[in-house]
Amino acid sequence: MSVPQAVPEPVSGTCPLCDAPAPAGLDRCGSCGYALAGVDGRPSAFSRATLLWTSIGFFAVYLITLAIVLATR
Ligand SMILES: [Zn+2]
Repeated sequence: MSVPQAVPEPVSGTCPLCDAPAPAGLDRCGSCGYALAGVDGRPSAFSRATLLWTSIGFFAVYLITLAIVLATR
């Protein structure tokens, strides 16, 4: 199973939304407020752990729903 990667940024160090310069250390663009995760070496918003815990959460909800359906039959 492959983890989907973020879209490659065209220019490193600039906001992908408004092309304003994005200094290192800022989590959001100073001009438009766009989240800069994955830009210019910043960690991506969707890590492998995020995907894993999201899958576990959906599976837990599925199991709870399945248990309720089976209990009411
Ligand atoms: Zn911006």
